[in-house]
Amino acid sequence: MRLLVSGGCGFIGSRFILDHLEKKPEDSILCLDKLTYAANRDIPDIARSVSDKFDFVKGDIADRDCVFSVFESFRPDAVVNFAAETHVDRSIEDPMPFVASNVNGTATLLDACLKYGTPRFHQVSTDEVYGEYNGSPDKGFDEGAPLCPSSPYAATKAASDMLALSYFRTYGLFVTVTRGANTYGERQYPEKLIPKTIRLALDKEPVPVMGDGSARRDWIFVGDHARAIEYVLEKGTPGEIYNVPGESELANIDTVKRVLSLVGADSELVRFVPERLGHDARYLINGEKLKDLGFSHEVTFDKGLEYTVKRYLEIYRCVR
Ligand code: NAD
Repeated sequence: MRLLVSGGCGFIGSRFILDHLEKKPEDSILCLDKLTYAANRDIPDIARSVSDKFDFVKGDIADRDCVFSVFESFRPDAVVNFAAETHVDRSIEDPMPFVASNVNGTATLLDACLKYGTPRFHQVSTDEVYGEYNGSPDKGFDEGAPLCPSSPYAATKAASDMLALSYFRTYGLFVTVTRGANTYGERQYPEKLIPKTIRLALDKEPVPVMGDGSARRDWIFVGDHARAIEYVLEKGTPGEIYNVPGESELANIDTVKRVLSLVGADSELVRFVPERLGHDARYLINGEKLKDLGFSHEVTFDKGLEYTVKRYLEIYRCVR
């Protein structure tokens, strides 16, 4: 298998690449990444040290010439698209880079699949496309729920899901989509809740929590998320969407307090700040369809969080 992984230097994509190279050493992987501020720039070197079947191209998925030349030379059997602008607050400040990367970028990759005869495309998406969950307490949105994204980030992700699925319906391209829950683990850019809290706690700086902290999020460990994507890549049905929940739903204030306690910091550091515009009070998705493929989680929130905090503390203490 020749796998093109776009956005593979990001938080989840890097985990996917390193795990895939270990489990399937016979596969070749080409990582195409623009290396935005969110990228882990050491991933190409780390992956090359693991496998001589790994290669890296710095480039933008919305740049047609670049994408087409990558397809022309690499001739992938499958594309897994992680590449995206991903931070909700940044999308509220300026949606345009989100439209360029998430919408135009996905469309460019899909077009390249048609032009170069790449038969398989997997789109990595998010539970945020469904919008806020107000349904019966623990059921969660299933894959047929209407899309009602709240932020420009979520709206561009919904658009890219729809584009990908339209290529299945219109052109018969074997497309699958996964919609994952809030993901945590190592190598996440520290603007996101958990790594940001760890860093601030270590510096004994105030830790902002939006609103009264009651907004609820469902958390999945990055290794489990990457494994779920592998499952769908291998066993998914063409044209289908699979939710990837974490089965660990917590109020944000409780997540922050757990992190503070693992860092050994005082919960007095918490500062309540105004709610983000259009903030969703709850995300919840139903993962029965993924379970039917045989997937189950391996890492509990307690274990995953303990590991994550330990890894960040090692890194932060190292650079001081
Ligand atoms: P990330 O922000 O950590 O990494 C994104 C990567 O994509 C970076 O390496 C960046 O350089 C690259 N990139 C951005 N725009 C690009 C472009 N135009 N061309 C090429 N590369 C580009 O993101 P992440 O948290 O790893 O998320 C990966 C995917 O998973 C995204 O599509 C996101 O929507 C989805 N997702 C994330 C979460 C989460 O909690 N992190 C949850 C569900 C779904």
